[in-house]
Amino acid sequence: MTDQEVLGPIIDGKVVASGSTPKFKAIYPVDGKEICEIYSCGQEQTDAAVRSSEEAFKSWGKTSFGERAAVLEHIARIVEENLEYFAKNETLDTGKGIGESLVQIGNSAKIYRYFASAIRSHEDRYIRYDNGTASVVIREPFGSVGLILPWNAPSMLLSWKLAPALAAGNCAIVKPASVASRAALNMVLRFQEALPPGVLNAVTGSGPDVGNALVKHPGIRKISFTGSTAVGREIGELCGNRLIPATLELGGKSASVIFDDANIERAIQFVMLGSLSSAGQICIAGTRILVQSTIYDSFVEKLKTKFDTLRVGDPMDSDTQMGPVINKNQFDKVMGYIDSGIKDGARLVIGGERLTGGIYDKGYYIAPTLFADVKSDMTIACEEIFGPVLSIMRFDTEEEAVSIANGTEYGLGASVWTKDINRAMRVSQALEAGTVWVNFYLDSPAGSPFGGYKKSGMGREIGKIAIDYYSNIKNINISSSDDVPPIF
Ligand code: NDP
Repeated sequence: MTDQEVLGPIIDGKVVASGSTPKFKAIYPVDGKEICEIYSCGQEQTDAAVRSSEEAFKSWGKTSFGERAAVLEHIARIVEENLEYFAKNETLDTGKGIGESLVQIGNSAKIYRYFASAIRSHEDRYIRYDNGTASVVIREPFGSVGLILPWNAPSMLLSWKLAPALAAGNCAIVKPASVASRAALNMVLRFQEALPPGVLNAVTGSGPDVGNALVKHPGIRKISFTGSTAVGREIGELCGNRLIPATLELGGKSASVIFDDANIERAIQFVMLGSLSSAGQICIAGTRILVQSTIYDSFVEKLKTKFDTLRVGDPMDSDTQMGPVINKNQFDKVMGYIDSGIKDGARLVIGGERLTGGIYDKGYYIAPTLFADVKSDMTIACEEIFGPVLSIMRFDTEEEAVSIANGTEYGLGASVWTKDINRAMRVSQALEAGTVWVNFYLDSPAGSPFGGYKKSGMGREIGKIAIDYYSNIKNINISSSDDVPPIF
């Protein structure tokens, strides 16, 4: 299968490549080389994408659960049959290791299959009251929904949004991040063989122009957004003004709470996985590591040794464990945080610099960076860095651990490491986070609702509940009586 030479908005199943609209470039983060050019949308194309979606909804919105399930299964097969092609595209867009891309694309197929099965087995609710009336509670699709993607995991996050949106009977218009549009656009194109024209369209171009136009478009009935808290707030305000629902998956600063009775070797493996996947550019990155004082020094030493042996390099090499950050903007931002950690007096244990020589000179490679003796009010402990930088903090008691873990404005994820089941349950319940893992991290199966507390967002993606977030809930009250009652 060859790459689409010309990419741009996808409307009614076809790429709209118009010479009159500006183009932007897809860049490979590893060497800064241009991979292809992508046509951007003007207002005219955004309007056309929404019109086509509204037209398609007239039939798609009436499809049976079984028909939608068959389409989602077809999409899952497309993903599975093109696993390596899609994984390569994901790595070309983001610079993440090919092994990680393969896992994420494999998970996407599972997401489409999960929602196929969830909608096939879906039953509306029937409630009978003791006065003889009854309710039938049904879910109805909104219509055309806007799905706005970030750059860090475009293929997987497309599945998180698209699968429940289609299962619920909506038509979708995808807006990928302009720095990583190519992988998502190629997926949207390949998925067309499973879908009637217009059910899945895409718009392209910058967030403040094209994304904003999509959110404001009167034909759009719901927005699902993943990205920064600042843009999420802006989109939330616009949706609030329009009185349309918005699901917002925003930033995170997730804590791992490690007690001295934990399986430390296992904890360290998951700390590495949870904080250095995608070079730390994941919303759920567990970058605040809280370690009980009794094991603090030995934990820091063991983690340092692991950091030292991490294979950082060419993401297309399956032995590579970490690639570069996506671009200069992200590099500058992460290096700024490293400077702030040093200035604030945190102890730099390892890393803290740009890697140089060979392949490192072409992309933006940052050495995996470990700060110890971090205080909870330091900037590196509070703000989302979105890079390979970890802060290790110290605690003595369970209460102190919970207080430090909750002392951030984010609340996306957390993990608890202990062999004491009572403590695991107590701490999990006390943590302000949408997902808490006990003695592991990062795994998000299709059936688990995912989303944030506090400034990490609103609403949930994946899990059966996600279908509700793409549905209007209608209650039909039915009387069993023919009596003519008095008015009062
Ligand atoms: P942004 O929030 O800037 O962008 C996310 C998406 O929204 C992109 O498609 C972007 O388009 C679009 N967008 C930007 N501005 C608007 C707007 N005004 N109206 C509508 N859409 C808009 O996040 P980035 O992807 O640039 O990442 C920046 C930061 O966000 C990261 O450093 C990280 O902190 C956080 N982030 C969090 C993620 C999570 O999963 N929680 C995932 C990714 C990022 P375009 O890029 O084309 O301008």
